[in-house]
Amino acid sequence: MRAEARSCRRCPLADTRCKVALDDGDPNADLVILGEAPGEDENREGRPFVGRAGHVLDTLLAEIQMTRSKVYVVNVVMCWPPGKQPPPNRQPRTDEIRACYPYVAEQLALVQPRVILALGATATRQLLGTGDLHSRLGERPNIGVATVVPTYHPSGLNRAHGRWDQIRLDFKAAAGLLRESDPRACHVSSGA
Ligand code: URA
Repeated sequence: MRAEARSCRRCPLADTRCKVALDDGDPNADLVILGEAPGEDENREGRPFVGRAGHVLDTLLAEIQMTRSKVYVVNVVMCWPPGKQPPPNRQPRTDEIRACYPYVAEQLALVQPRVILALGATATRQLLGTGDLHSRLGERPNIGVATVVPTYHPSGLNRAHGRWDQIRLDFKAAAGLLRESDPRACHVSSGA
């Protein structure tokens, strides 16, 4: 799958990309971070979330005692959509999201996360709304069951931003869900 994705030509983004930003982190992780699409930095390096949004992501992960190497990071599309919304990026189009869907579905099927943090509207729609990952889950039973925590996208967020507190709470909620669903945890009843 990795080799195929790296030379993928299923959508027009193949013509403008430099490198496919396939994934990052641990494919055995219990927590998946699903973003939207690579930006210019990710396009140069071939890894998701290495630019400014990536620094914000690392800060949020550190607050829940996580690092990039302990989570699995992936985007709804793996190639940079160049454009002006805001420059130098644009949101991925439906045809591009569709073309990338089989790769993302396969990644999730392999990783089998317990919790997925969906960063922003595109990732949330893809998992919970009208996106293909959601509507085709029934056709792909091997994706497994994960709890989805929708939150804001870290692009453009900083500590002074009004959404900062909420995104921190959402990361904490994801960490709490991971702890609760940890099969290795020892649940001791406090009752008599
Ligand atoms: N960088 C990524 O890799 N994904 C995003 O969604 C935003 C920035």
